[in-house]
Amino acid sequence: MLFANWLQKSWNFYFLICFISFNSLVFKKEEIFKIIYMQFSFDTNLTKIAAKVEANERLTFDEGIELYKTDDLNALGKLADFVRRRKHGKTTYFNVNRHFNHTNICVADCKFCGFYRRARQDDAYTHSIDEGIEIARNAVNEGATELHIVGGLNSKLPFEYYTDLFSSLKREFPKLHLKALTMVELDFFARFYKMSDEDVIEKLKAAGMDSCPGGGAEIFAEPTRSRICDHKCDGNRWLELAGKVHKAGLKTNATMLYGHIETTEDRVDHFVKLREQQDKTGGFQCFIPLAFYPNGTALSSLPGPDAMLNLKTIAVSRLMLDNFDHIKAYWVMLGLPTTQTALHFGANDVDGTITDGGELTHAYSVESGGERKMTKNELISMIENAGFEAVERDTVYNRVEKATV
Ligand code: SF4
Repeated sequence: MLFANWLQKSWNFYFLICFISFNSLVFKKEEIFKIIYMQFSFDTNLTKIAAKVEANERLTFDEGIELYKTDDLNALGKLADFVRRRKHGKTTYFNVNRHFNHTNICVADCKFCGFYRRARQDDAYTHSIDEGIEIARNAVNEGATELHIVGGLNSKLPFEYYTDLFSSLKREFPKLHLKALTMVELDFFARFYKMSDEDVIEKLKAAGMDSCPGGGAEIFAEPTRSRICDHKCDGNRWLELAGKVHKAGLKTNATMLYGHIETTEDRVDHFVKLREQQDKTGGFQCFIPLAFYPNGTALSSLPGPDAMLNLKTIAVSRLMLDNFDHIKAYWVMLGLPTTQTALHFGANDVDGTITDGGELTHAYSVESGGERKMTKNELISMIENAGFEAVERDTVYNRVEKATV
């Protein structure tokens, strides 16, 4: 038996030596590596796609579908990790930030949203500018470099509420980066206050808006989008406004809400549309897949995404969005174990400390009913324990040597 094992091993070794020797006569060293590397999956479709990825070629819509269909999760992760390491090595970004949700009053009623309230509901709120300054002061004292500001579509507020809020925050904390307002909010402002898009963007920029977050993209494909959020702007309008913000010289992020009623085709369509917009205006910094959290929403009967879908979505986004630098594993929605795994599936950012969360974060946190927050040291440990190098960044991906506000 032992001899049989030895013989078997020897034959394997002999075969490997012959294989390499024969190929060295015919191929160069890199080509041998390529041949061995390209046989890495039992899924032949994945093996073919791997050759394109290695050659830096753009993947098609159909290939995006194949990536989602594969059962070889390991190979998919390996492929996405290959691209991630080609772009960033082991660097994994985080930032020290705070969310500020100025109002939860909203005229829309998105089916996936557990945050919004009607103006007459008991727990409807709008923060005053002074409250906003106090929240920002606490954040700055804890080392925050960014205030992430999003809220409901509140028809009770004048446009000046936003310009006053931003200019007051800038007066108090000139170095605090205001990442504020989604494309859906900008669209609402243009329609509700009867202003041009350019006017809305310029006035908010002049008041202190430094960049925009990526929310409100949800899922672009119709009829899915209309079924989950028919009162907000459509996908084309979201993309058009992102392009206008980019042209005004501001960066934005982009998101996709998944794990509800959308199809695989919807998700891949979303990636292709984002990629096309990025080709045109180039202002997206980061893509953030948002895992749907059913509790407290009109879609609470749905189970939400499982770990397979979470990891596949991170990996496929890394492979399809070839013109996006950063893919974020948003720890609040994924939970810590999946976030660490996602770093091996193409993600190179985990978002931030999110000190005290903000009311919207409470509505979708997968961890202990939204009470989660992480210190800077906890974030660093999470990243390092996953085998990566933690780098604190500011909102536009400059390395932060020392937080100075
Ligand atoms: S997702 Fe935004 S727009 Fe939709 S209901 Fe919630 S707060 Fe309003």
